Amino acid sequence: MRFSQFFIPTIKETPKDAVLKSHQYLVRGGYIHQIGSGIYNFLPLGKRVLDKISQIVKEEMDSAGCIEIAMGFVTPAELWKQSGRYEKYGKELLRFLDRKNNDFVLGPTYEEAITDIARNFIKSYKNLPVSFYQINLKFRDEVRPRFGLMRGREFIMKDAYSFHSSYEDLDREFENMHQAYKRIFTRLELDFRVVDADSGAIGGSGSKEFMVLADCGEDTIVVCKNCEYASNIEAAKRQKRVVDFDAPKAEFAKFSTPNVKSVEELSAFFRISSFYILKVVVKKVIFLPEKNMKPKLAFFFVRGDDELEEIKALNVLSTKNSNVLELVDASSEDIKSAGLCEGFIGPYSLRNITQSEFIFFDEDLREERDLICGANEENYHFVGVDLSTFEGLEYVDLAKVREGDICTCCGGVMEYKKGIEVGHIFKLGTKYSEAMQAMYLDQNGKMQPFVMGCYGIGISRLLSAILEQKSDEKGCVWTKASAPFAVSVIISNSKNEIEREFGEELYKALKQKNIEVLLDDRLERFGFKIKDFELIGNYKGVVIGKELENNKVEIIHRDGMQKTYLNAEIQEIVQFLENHK
Ligand code: ATP
Ligand code: MG
Repeated sequence: MRFSQFFIPTIKETPKDAVLKSHQYLVRGGYIHQIGSGIYNFLPLGKRVLDKISQIVKEEMDSAGCIEIAMGFVTPAELWKQSGRYEKYGKELLRFLDRKNNDFVLGPTYEEAITDIARNFIKSYKNLPVSFYQINLKFRDEVRPRFGLMRGREFIMKDAYSFHSSYEDLDREFENMHQAYKRIFTRLELDFRVVDADSGAIGGSGSKEFMVLADCGEDTIVVCKNCEYASNIEAAKRQKRVVDFDAPKAEFAKFSTPNVKSVEELSAFFRISSFYILKVVVKKVIFLPEKNMKPKLAFFFVRGDDELEEIKALNVLSTKNSNVLELVDASSEDIKSAGLCEGFIGPYSLRNITQSEFIFFDEDLREERDLICGANEENYHFVGVDLSTFEGLEYVDLAKVREGDICTCCGGVMEYKKGIEVGHIFKLGTKYSEAMQAMYLDQNGKMQPFVMGCYGIGISRLLSAILEQKSDEKGCVWTKASAPFAVSVIISNSKNEIEREFGEELYKALKQKNIEVLLDDRLERFGFKIKDFELIGNYKGVVIGKELENNKVEIIHRDGMQKTYLNAEIQEIVQFLENHK
């Protein structure tokens, strides 16, 4: 490709709203163009990278035995009503009517559509297992579309779905996909971790995320310094905490604590570690709109120096009550009208006072003694609290794992890392097949719901993820497999006939060897061209400049900008680039 005849609208200025380097470079390098909030056009360079990533994903999906299909972007809402997600999915689901007033949604994910295919065409266990994939647009009306391709509203995803006649077979396919995903991200030369993920209310161990490590990552992952354990913080587990300071031993008693409300104030007042304070997080439970249920309060107790992990809290509630939609913060007003004093809430008589059926204690508090908690009376706390004297307390995993907590697998110390979620594999079980009556006949002639799995990769997000991990302060740095071109041939001075001729000859020779090459033949200054090379980030560069007089050309490796010189012999250069393709 000739730069002069291609379309690469590079720009000098950093776009105002672009905070991440990946976003800045994709816009400045002429890869993408924003046309609406969270909606982007892919310009030729962006399309090339997108195709390269898609091709790798395609190859690995095909070789893993997955069959490619393409489902309609517009999905009849009826299918979403059958699965029950039309109500549950919330505002990210874009709903609209056609001219005949029929309801539709723009596909954010395709479990419903694929389940409809399965129930129409797969009738017998003899046709199982089978798995399908597609690479196409998705639309999610994200609250905060940001960071360019990282969190768009319209984006490109590879989504795959598998159908099985047993959970064992689903486990096999889950592992098959796990390995295929590892091959994909390894081919893209990414530093990534496979982490345990939140499986929502479905529960089980059936969900893993693939995280590209990068400081800007929106996900916090917990990794063990000693073993392979890695988990999204939303699902992370830890051993029971052990501390080396003394417990505040005291007889059970009510203590006057005027105006002492927060955990910090309490620990200063009693001169104790907040480890021994019973902290309560009060949330308001919102139910599905069509159920017409009034919001209720929920109480989550954790240690004073722990934080509530909201995803864990929501999962606990969803397992208790399938009509739960979301949790929001309870206001001071909500707390007051439940008969409680903010800052002085504790477990004693809490159920009687509030009638709440949603009172939970973090696992780490199981049967703990020597605690301090609110007395449900203004300006009073209890000391010497012993939870083992209570009856029927519900202990569940609620707390956010902290850095320094201990690994449940090996006893090692755990730490945080930041990651960008680029893939997610998930055991669905029979959630959709049951809801949508998607059945097959088993070996005994009995109707059974399909056992399903689903597997996603954020294709367009991968452009951002690669750049966040690899780029430098000069511009894009792509990996070998993802760079739009393998090599840029930069003619330093296009007016110099000898340089130009050599460049043209090299360009032809490289094309003959199927090496993807961008020839910078523009009548621009060398400084301008090299800046564009740095910004665009093709894998290697060949500079044909003054050194040609000495029979030399300069080879630049974009990652690190290291330079080497080669003899100005076409065959030698082609061979060198072929070996480094
Ligand atoms: P996130 O937690 O980042 O919102 P998600 O868990 O909702 O993502 P999935 O439903 O698991 O996403 O979708 C599969 C993949 O699609 C994700 O792993 C991610 O790489 C990609 N993806 C999801 N939402 C977006 C988005 N708004 N923009 C770009 N890629 C996305
Ligand atoms: Mg996910």
